[in-house]
Amino acid sequence: MRTKINISFEFFPPKTEEAHSLLQHSFVQLCDYNPEFCSVTFGAGGSTRDGTLNTVKFLQSLNARLSIAPHLSCLGVQCESLLELLETYRVLNIKRIVALRGDLPTNMVQCESVLNFASELVAFIRTHFGNFFQLEVAAYPEIHPQARSPQDDVLNLKRKYDAGADRAITQYFFNPDAYFYFLDECAKQGINLPIIPGIMPITQFKSLARFSQVCGAEIPMWIKKRLAAINPTDLAQQSKFGTEVVYRLCETLIAGGAPGLHFYTLNKAQATLDLLELLGFASNKTIWQLAANAHTAR
Ligand code: FAD
Repeated sequence: MRTKINISFEFFPPKTEEAHSLLQHSFVQLCDYNPEFCSVTFGAGGSTRDGTLNTVKFLQSLNARLSIAPHLSCLGVQCESLLELLETYRVLNIKRIVALRGDLPTNMVQCESVLNFASELVAFIRTHFGNFFQLEVAAYPEIHPQARSPQDDVLNLKRKYDAGADRAITQYFFNPDAYFYFLDECAKQGINLPIIPGIMPITQFKSLARFSQVCGAEIPMWIKKRLAAINPTDLAQQSKFGTEVVYRLCETLIAGGAPGLHFYTLNKAQATLDLLELLGFASNKTIWQLAANAHTAR
C-alpha cells in the first residue's frame, strides 16, 4: 500500500446542472483517497471568476476538512478585482492559491495597471497578504510555448520562487526524462522548491490531441501511433492503453523521487481512480477493510 506520496486533484467550474452533478460525484469518489488538496481552475481573463469562487464554496461544503486551492490568473484582471477575490478567499479560510499568469481570451486586450507575469502576481499576493497563502505556481518541463528560451523558462520559475512561491506543479507530459532534466536545470539555478508532476490520464485520443496542441504538451510518437491504431469509437480500449501508459509514467516518477502527483481529472473520476488503484494508493474503504480484518483476526 502506498502512503508516502501526496496526491492532489484538479477540477474545473461546471457550467450545467449535469456537469455540476458529475463534479460532485467525482469529487466525493476521489476524496476517498485522502488528497492533500483539490484545486479549481480559473478562466482566461477572469472569465470564470465567479464560477471558480462558487465551485470552491461548493467543494468546501462537501468536505470542510479538505484544503481547496483556487487557481488565480492575473492577465486581463484588474488589481482591485484580484485583491477583492483574495480577501474573499482569506475570509473563507482558503490557505492555498495556484498563482498563474493565465492567457488572454482572443477577444480581450491587456489593459494597463495589471500584472503581466505570474512572478508579479506572487509578489503582489505576498505584499498584500504576507504568508497567509501557500502559493503554488506553474512549471513547464517541456518549456512554455511563449518562453524566450528553455533557459529563460527555468529562470522564470526562479523569478516565481524568489517572489515567494512555495511549490510548483508542472504542465502534463508523457516523457519522464523531460521532467528529470528540468529538475536538474532548476537545481543548478538554486530553485529549492518541490516540483510536483501534473498527470493527465489518457482516456480519448481526440480530446487529448486537441488539448495538447493548445498547451504545448508533446504526445510521443509511439503513443500517438498506438492510440491512432485503436478504433476511434472503442473508448474502452483507448482508455485501457492510456491507463497502462500513464501508470508506467507515474511509477517512473515516483521511483525517481517525485514529491507528489497532481492529477488533471477533467471532473471525471474513473481514469484517475483506475490509476490510483494500480499504483497501490489506499482508499478509506480499503483502510477500514484492513482494520476490520485485523480486528477479526485478533
Ligand atoms: P508565467 O510564469 O508568467 O510565464 C508565462 C510566459 O512568460 C513563459 O513563457 C515565461 O517564460 C514568460 N515570462 C515570464 N516572465 C517574463 C518576463 N519578465 N519577460 C519575458 N517573458 C517572461 N490557465 C488558466 O487559464 N486557468 C487555470 O486555472 C490554469 N491552471 C494551470 C495550472 C497548472 C498547474 C499549469 C501548469 C497551467 C495552468 N494554466 C491555467 C495554464 C497557464 O495559465 C498558461 O500556461 C499560461 O500561458 C502561463 O501561465 P504561467 O503562470 O505559467 O505564466
